[in-house]
Amino acid sequence: MAWFKKARKPIATPEKTSRVPEGLWVKCPECDTIIYTKDLAKTLSVCPKCAHHFRLTAAERLRTLFDDEQWVEHDAALASNDPLTFTDTKPYAARLASSRKATGLKDALIVGAGTIEGLPVIVAAMEYGFIGGSMGVVMGEKLVRGIEAAVERRVPVVIVSCSGGARMMEGALSLMQMAKVSAALARLDRAQLPYLSVLTDPTTGGVTASFAMLGDVILAEPKALIGFAGPRVIEQTIRQKLPAGFQRSEFLLERGMLYLVIDRREMKPTIARLLRFMGAVPAPAAAG
Ligand SMILES: [Zn+2]
Repeated sequence: MAWFKKARKPIATPEKTSRVPEGLWVKCPECDTIIYTKDLAKTLSVCPKCAHHFRLTAAERLRTLFDDEQWVEHDAALASNDPLTFTDTKPYAARLASSRKATGLKDALIVGAGTIEGLPVIVAAMEYGFIGGSMGVVMGEKLVRGIEAAVERRVPVVIVSCSGGARMMEGALSLMQMAKVSAALARLDRAQLPYLSVLTDPTTGGVTASFAMLGDVILAEPKALIGFAGPRVIEQTIRQKLPAGFQRSEFLLERGMLYLVIDRREMKPTIARLLRFMGAVPAPAAAG
């Protein structure tokens, strides 16, 4: 049984994705340059001409950060069980099934343990291709377990956000994750371990309103959309035209919301430098 019925059709949203499509060539949406897909992989999916940052999958993101592109995944099998039997334009269960098929993941987050320039760290990366990287019960639980593992091993945490916000199909249960993850981060803080928050395009809604903004250092990729409500909603609410570049990384950096805007190709060394500065130490060399 559905809890709500929608009498009117939802507002149509223009589809504008920057995901790299299948094929040999891809056109940069910023500068219209045609780029060979293999060349794009070498530049970590950043346009070599105009530095447009294409969106990465969670696995691609982790490959750009971890040494030797290797990590040990945590809680890969956790999956949502549709607690509200929610249906909007189609049943939530069907959305879950198609997202699982499309991404090969059980939910919109990968948590991995590995090293960055030799420093042991736990990194969580969101998968936008899985219901818009939305935060449901599973994402919250995986983040908390990842943070708890970090406290136990005394290693830092990096969370790479790429999310449309809370997962409405899980109602208030998804909103609770904001408090739950924030509380786990407070425990990490009391254990005096660093937390770096990396914001990528887009970081919005309940993710922005909670853990994404709690980083000891908050970094962002260039021109990422970062905000709570989208610009269209704000314009309609306050009935004013918003300034150019509103809610983009550079705009937020100028106003003190972010610490750094970093090109993806510099992200890994920057994270390593920050972690060392905050006292992270390399793993002892493996025996033998
Ligand atoms: Zn370009």
